[in-house]
Amino acid sequence: IPPKKGKPKWLRVKLPTGKKYTQLRGLVDKYDLHTICTSGSCPNMGECWGEGTATFMILGNVCTRSCGFCGVKTGRPESVDWAEPEKVARSIKIMQIKHAVLTSVDRDDLKDMGSIIWAETVKAVRRMNPTTTLETLIPDFQGITIHLDRILSVHPEVISHNMETVKRLTREVRIQAKYERSLEVLRYLKENGASRTKSGIMLGLGEFEEEVLQTMEDLRGVGVDVVTIGQYLQPSKKHLPVKEFILPEQFKKYEEAGLAMGFRHVESGALVRSSYKAHKHID
Ligand code: SF4
Ligand code: SF4
Repeated sequence: IPPKKGKPKWLRVKLPTGKKYTQLRGLVDKYDLHTICTSGSCPNMGECWGEGTATFMILGNVCTRSCGFCGVKTGRPESVDWAEPEKVARSIKIMQIKHAVLTSVDRDDLKDMGSIIWAETVKAVRRMNPTTTLETLIPDFQGITIHLDRILSVHPEVISHNMETVKRLTREVRIQAKYERSLEVLRYLKENGASRTKSGIMLGLGEFEEEVLQTMEDLRGVGVDVVTIGQYLQPSKKHLPVKEFILPEQFKKYEEAGLAMGFRHVESGALVRSSYKAHKHID
């Protein structure tokens, strides 16, 4: 469906509600905690927070890359805050998060590309929240294995890295990334001890069905266990336009195809974000 006037009805969401959501919202405001859920005004907040899941971004909020779909600011990032691991761990404790997703901007400016803060954050979260499970949604670290090894060494329950789009559109959608390199990152993680790997793609950027299926096959080919597929929405007029709103039936079709390919979990739907229902992906 071409995106003419406004969003189709399946993309309209109700404002988040629920006791747990309201309680968390109060804590987030009171302690000035930073989650992607609130800064990106994610439509799934009611649901995720109600289940005790939230996503936290580390290493600042300015990225060295400039992906055409992403609402994060590009530029020269701030210097590293070595107290950040403790701060994130504290936020998770205050919010009583059962399953936390950690993600970061890309820090191509740093020698370690941020991997030390990544590992320290996982350790701090574990120390302060021994029962909280973790997903680390990591950058490609330019495919450099010493950085990937730092993530592997702290054993997050799930390690994810998003392909974001199909091979043909990768250059246009995430200019500094490479399709093959991202696949290699996922392969390396799986072959070197990651218990569960995960990746996500957005639809509506002009990809064809066979390209989506091929991407899913490629992910299975490197041992990825979980795939998320959602609708791309344009963060602002400066970002890539939405070429198409994918129909709910089509999302269903990808879900069935993914399960038939052997993925352990497939989240496929218009409002699916990479961390949607993330707590389910550990089992
Ligand atoms: Fe937060 Fe992700 Fe859930 Fe959105 S989908 S509310 S960003 S955990
Ligand atoms: Fe956004 Fe990540 Fe791309 Fe940076 S690397 S612009 S945070 S998607």
